[in-house]
Parts: sequence; C-alpha cells; structure tokens
Amino acid sequence: MKFIGAHISASGGVENAPLNANAIGAKAFAFFTKNQRQWFASPYTDQNIDLFKSRCEELGYSPNHILPHASYLINLGHPEEEGLNKSRNAFNDEMKRCEQLGINRLNFHPGSHLNKIAIDACLDRIAESINIALEKSNGVAAVIENTAGQGSNLGHTFEQIAHIIDKVDDKSRVGVCLDTAHTLAAGYEIRTREGYDDTFNQFDEIVGFRYLKGIHINDSKKELASRVDRHDSLGKGVMTMDPFSFLMNDPRLDDLPLILETPDESLWAEEIQLLYSLQK
Ligand SMILES: [Zn+2]
Ligand SMILES: [Zn+2]
Repeated sequence: MKFIGAHISASGGVENAPLNANAIGAKAFAFFTKNQRQWFASPYTDQNIDLFKSRCEELGYSPNHILPHASYLINLGHPEEEGLNKSRNAFNDEMKRCEQLGINRLNFHPGSHLNKIAIDACLDRIAESINIALEKSNGVAAVIENTAGQGSNLGHTFEQIAHIIDKVDDKSRVGVCLDTAHTLAAGYEIRTREGYDDTFNQFDEIVGFRYLKGIHINDSKKELASRVDRHDSLGKGVMTMDPFSFLMNDPRLDDLPLILETPDESLWAEEIQLLYSLQK
C-alpha cells in the first residue's frame, strides 16, 4: 500500500500538522519541526505533544508515515568549528523534538563543504555529526536526503551517501530519502523504464534498499544533470508522468512516506489523487 502526502504547514503549533494533512486527503506527511529559517525555537509544550499524538492517532497517521524535514540552516559537514557546532546543536534539538512527538525519522540535507575542505573530509564530518546526534537521542533515525548537487552540497551521488552510512556506528538508525527532482538533476535518468530500473538497481547495490525511509515526489524545472534544485508541480516540469507511474507501481516503496514538495500547495489534494490514479 502506498502512503502519499505532502510537506504541510505546522504554523500555529506542531499539533496543526496532522489536521492540515488530513484536510488534503494525505495518508502521510512532512513538516518542519520548527521555523526552518531560525536557529532557535521555544521547546514544545506538553499540550503541543499530547495534541499532536492524539490527532495522529485519531486521523490514522502512523509514525512510519511521518517524515519531518530539518532546517535548511543546518550544515552537518560545515568546514568551520563555529558553524559545525551550531549545526550539530540545532540538529540534536530537532532529533529530540521528533523523539518527543513519537516520530522515528528525521530527514535532512547532508551538508556542504563550502569549498573549504575536501569532499571525503566533509562526508566524514557529516557521519560524525550523525553519530553524535544518535548518541544524544533515542529511537529516531537520521534520514539523509539525496541532493541535486547544487553549489558545494554533497549527497548527490549514491557513493557519497554510502560513504556517510559506512561511517555511522548505529546502522539501525540511519536512512535515506530519495527526492525525484534531486535525483534527475544530479544526473540519474529516471524518466525511462530502463533508466528508472538502472537507477534503483544502483541505489540497491551501492546504498541498499533497507536504508530507504522515504521518497520526495517532485517534478523538476531543471534538466537531467543540471545540478540545480528547482521543484515543479507534477506534469509541469521536465519529468513527464512516467517516473511517478513507475514509483506508484513499485512494491519496494510500499509502506514508506511518499511526500510531495511541489511548489503550488493548492494542487496537493489533486496531485495526491493523480498519483493514486497511476496505480495499475
Ligand atoms: Zn529536502
Ligand atoms: Zn526533497
């Protein structure tokens, strides 16, 4: 069974997230655990936590289908001490917030070398940041999102993701989220049957399907291997609907949160229905 949803708003309180998801007919959802443009946020109150949990239960959202997204400010591979510490503290805080909400996974962009350290050194640093976060939290997996490889962002190849996972001590609490727009922009051709199969075979060989904890379903404004991260609404970009049809009929993606991050939120309810209609 497929669990499709979108990255919905949690403004006004994290307890609004399940309501907003339900309003668009989502069976899964993502949200920011706090304002993604600010370093600090006040902790959740007991009321926030209780309401979030009771609403998820009432509306039928299992923790396995909720994939929060960490702040874009965080760079777990930051080349400088101050930026690295700030990022690690913020990430540890977000892992704690997930733990408080009874959520078992947190999605993040791996990090950037900012042209100041070597790629391998940056990947090692990201793995070390994950190790620290896992030590300081319980029950929440750190879920690495593949990137388009824009600027000095790492995580655009399966090899880089495998490098990070290899250096994480607790393999049971690290995972991967594949973003369709990032995958195409990074250079993986997923629009043809052959290309889709080849990409996922490579993913399985290099990283391993057992690490897959979610999918972001986005069309892309930018072409194959452009290394530019620009999402588009389904059918409006360069993807065609084919890769979405492959995804919807791929049993390996059953029971995972499949999350839309398309730019026009007024289309989400329709896009969710459209995706379900692609199932054969
Ligand atoms: Zn992301
Ligand atoms: Zn994404």
